[in-house]
Amino acid sequence: MAGDGDNRGGGLGCGLLLLCAAVATLVAGALAYHHGPRWPRMLTHGPPGVVIHHSATGATASGRTVDAAFIDQSHERRGWGVTEGGVDYHIGYHYVILPDGTVEPGRPEWLPGAHAVGANDYLGICLVGNFSSKANPTGADQPARPTTEQMAALKDLIGTLMRKYRFGPDRIYGHRDFAATDCPGDRFPLDELKRELGARGSRDSAR
Ligand SMILES: [Zn+2]
Repeated sequence: MAGDGDNRGGGLGCGLLLLCAAVATLVAGALAYHHGPRWPRMLTHGPPGVVIHHSATGATASGRTVDAAFIDQSHERRGWGVTEGGVDYHIGYHYVILPDGTVEPGRPEWLPGAHAVGANDYLGICLVGNFSSKANPTGADQPARPTTEQMAALKDLIGTLMRKYRFGPDRIYGHRDFAATDCPGDRFPLDELKRELGARGSRDSAR
């Protein structure tokens, strides 16, 4: 019984309890600031790493090219937007990589994302395609696995972000590490990517 212990502790116990309550409130407030429904204006620290997603679509959907503009519109309907510098960013990702390797910017890096609950201080990178053998068993959605161009662009992008924000390959996650989803799909080679970027990083630091 916590209450009995507090009573026996008298004034000191009570004071400690109040202090603990105050600290807990502050911590909860800080967490809500980072992860709550009201997006902070900007991150108070650099992003700790990246979270990779797939769009779970083909290169086109409903006859339209799936790109950052398309995703911005679809996220607008979900109400994940944030306004910064007079610009509305509905897209929850920071980058979108098209099948031809083109890297399109989403919301700016200094704004928290809206892509993975509990990890929105990480940068969200979305590859267009459906890399899940469960959701896309026959490969009706193309690309059904990341293209060579997408993987090359992704490695360059993450390599740049690792140097800029000083994080290691252990901070490269898939969405599935944070939620009950198989995003970015079982055909996405996450372990291989981490190994390659880790090797690349140690080569860079050996120079
Ligand atoms: Zn995802």
